[in-house]
Parts: sequence; structure tokens; C-alpha cells
Amino acid sequence: MNYYSDAITNLIEEFSHLPGIGAKSAQKLAFHVVNMPEDQVQKLADTIVSAKKNIHYCKECCTLTDQEICPICSSQKRDHSIIMVVENTRDLAAYEKTGKYNGVYHVLHGAISPMLGVGPNDIRLKELMARLQKDVKELILATNSSLEGETTAMYISKLVKPTGIKVSKIASGVPVGGDLEYIDEVTLLRALEGRTEI
Ligand code: ZN
Repeated sequence: MNYYSDAITNLIEEFSHLPGIGAKSAQKLAFHVVNMPEDQVQKLADTIVSAKKNIHYCKECCTLTDQEICPICSSQKRDHSIIMVVENTRDLAAYEKTGKYNGVYHVLHGAISPMLGVGPNDIRLKELMARLQKDVKELILATNSSLEGETTAMYISKLVKPTGIKVSKIASGVPVGGDLEYIDEVTLLRALEGRTEI
């Protein structure tokens, strides 16, 4: 039975499709939006559309950016011979927050998962291999410690080993299955510093 008007039901439905938003939160958000001043709602809607329109993958590292080359890739202060491989832009942000990593990144946008039908061609692996043609000394694998993350790290390591480029993996201590973005900076730094060659 539809207790609300269709417009509100549709709004609740849209919110409930967002990650981490259950039925209750979706209702709360929908009613909050309906009660907001119209100009604020317009601003929210415009910001969402503009973010979607203007943000794309960096031509170098594939992170999300509104420029052709992201600020990290275009910085001369960064060491471009060290590439840290992460699953998504949120993980990149987690390492950037530590302020202690001076290399560059490569964002895969996912991890290999035979169970979910995600293969090597479904993530930004080709782009990574293309980057290795340049002067790269070390590849740091910082995928999550989930089954998918480990599978991905193993796959990349096998692929890269023959090139002679040093491949290392961040130390365990990052909780199994834990998303990197939720791990505190000290743990991340320890994982980075304690990385081992594989
Ligand atoms: Zn970039």
C-alpha cells in the first residue's frame, strides 16, 4: 500500500538505491529534502549533476578528477617511478591523508572476482601495464585484503614480475576484508612502511 504520494515514494526509492542507505534512512532523507528550501534542493541537484558531468578518469592514473591529468600525476614533486595500486579513489584518498606517501597511484576501479564475474579486463589493468613502459622502479600493491583484493594482487604480481620491476605488497595488519578508507592513518603508514617484496 502506498502511504505517501507517488512523488515521495519515488524519491524514497531513489535514495534506497544508494549504498549504505536502508529503507529507514531513505525515508528520512526523502522527507528532509522535501522540507528543505527550494533553492537548497536546486543547489544539491545541480551539484550532483555537475559532479557527474565534469568528473572523469585521469589519463595517467585513472583516479576521478575534473582535470585531464589529476593534481597528483601532474605534480613534479611526486616520485613518478613509484606507483601504488589501489582499488578505488577512496583508497587513494586514505593514503593521501597520511601525507607521507610521495609516489603516484594507479586506481583499478575494482578487483578481480571470478565469483562476481569480474575479470582482468573489467578493471583498469591495461592502463597500468601501459604505464610500466615508462621509467618505473617499484609497484606497491595496496589492494584490499579481501579475497578479491588478494586475487588481484597475485594476478598483477605474476604479470609484472617478468618485466623486472620491483613488486611489493603492503604489510598485513590491515584487517581482512576491511576497506582501506576506514583504516586509521597510523595503520596505513605501518602497512606501507612494512611492505615486502613479492
Ligand atoms: Zn592521475
